[in-house]
Amino acid sequence: MPSAVLGYVLAVDALALTVVGASFINLDVGAGDWMRFGVLALGSSIHVEAGREIERLRQVVSEGSTYVNLKSMWMFAGVLILPPPLAAGVIAVSYAHAWIRLPRSPPHRGFFSASTVILGSAVAIMCLRTINPDNQPGFAGGLVGLIAVAAAALAYWLINLALVVGVVLLSNPNASARKALGQLSDQFIVAGALGLGTSTAALLVYQPWLTAALLITVLGLHRALLVGQFQFAARTDPNTGLANTMFWHEIAAKELERAQNTNVPLGILYLDLDHFKAVNDTHGHLAGDQVLKAIAAELKHEVRTEDLVGRLGGEEFAVLLPNTSPADTLHTAERIRRRIARLVISVTAPDGTTVVDGLTCSIGAATYPAAGHSLDVLLMAADTATYAAKEAGRNQVVTAPSRTPGQLS
Ligand code: GH3
Ligand code: MG
Ligand code: MG
Repeated sequence: MPSAVLGYVLAVDALALTVVGASFINLDVGAGDWMRFGVLALGSSIHVEAGREIERLRQVVSEGSTYVNLKSMWMFAGVLILPPPLAAGVIAVSYAHAWIRLPRSPPHRGFFSASTVILGSAVAIMCLRTINPDNQPGFAGGLVGLIAVAAAALAYWLINLALVVGVVLLSNPNASARKALGQLSDQFIVAGALGLGTSTAALLVYQPWLTAALLITVLGLHRALLVGQFQFAARTDPNTGLANTMFWHEIAAKELERAQNTNVPLGILYLDLDHFKAVNDTHGHLAGDQVLKAIAAELKHEVRTEDLVGRLGGEEFAVLLPNTSPADTLHTAERIRRRIARLVISVTAPDGTTVVDGLTCSIGAATYPAAGHSLDVLLMAADTATYAAKEAGRNQVVTAPSRTPGQLS
């Protein structure tokens, strides 16, 4: 770890430990508090257990990316209704349980995450005490109660997010703020977790037995969420955001079947960048990756929404063009070829920001039914055409020849 990152992480950890230590001063914990602590710790543990297999798969496919889930609802409920040391206890139980039962990440990561949550919770508790001093921990009635909870939720969320964004930016100064903030949809999940945490806290105070109903609701939502995240991760190439090869083939097979059933043509393009190794050799592998990302964005922009661009290999892409005639397939390929040749991409190379231009590609085009009837034959035809485009001098499109009926399948 670079020393700036290490210093930051250790400072956050130390501050969180200090805050937890300080919370033991003025300790006032009753039997009801222990009961609520038990329910929240149990809820969080059931939550972790219920998502285990999906969570494992998810971590395998989206290696290293941060992700959020609804689990924080139990911790936020603790912030609202438990004495601070017990609220910290729910956080500790939740992270310790996840660390033991889910695929292991290095312990310092879990510790840092828990610390950011502790600090967010501490500021949230300060908000609650400021707005509603007489009634802590607990709810104030009426509008004041709502304002107190909303302020606490906002503080919890903002402090957490700021601390996590801080470590992302420190460890990777080139990361854009957009990327460091993560996916917007993830922030909606956080909002949902805070809302559910508030409901859990209210139920525990006013109708504790009904918490069971909430648990069932949440487990259902949790699974649905994880499945969605898993499916997205499993079909996307992480660097370019394009369909990965498995997903592209799956959709291509379905579209081909539909073309056969409805008697419409279908185009397939195979695209290989020319002399791409030279980009890596000149500007480094990271710059190469940025170029691939930019190319992916251009490809997506050049085709219709019903077309599917996939990344089939390192610097090889495929475009599926449903319901497209041989002439339109060729036109599309030419448009893509010209667009890439015009492209000017700024990248970060070892010696600063620089520009990559003059990049070209070779494209092979094949259409159903002329070039073949099965996906394998069509893909082979497009691949062979790409190779022919390379042989003929690169920066060009070659269309696969029409086959005689005997060769079609
Ligand atoms: P040409 O296709 O014109 O024959 O030459 P080329 O240099 O592009 O050769 P090839 O198609 O065989 O490309 C392979 C090179 O692409 C090897 C590697 O340097 C680069 N490459 C493959 N995958 C990646 C990747 O994910 N990131 C980066 N930066 N480079 C990659
Ligand atoms: Mg290649
Ligand atoms: Mg190449």
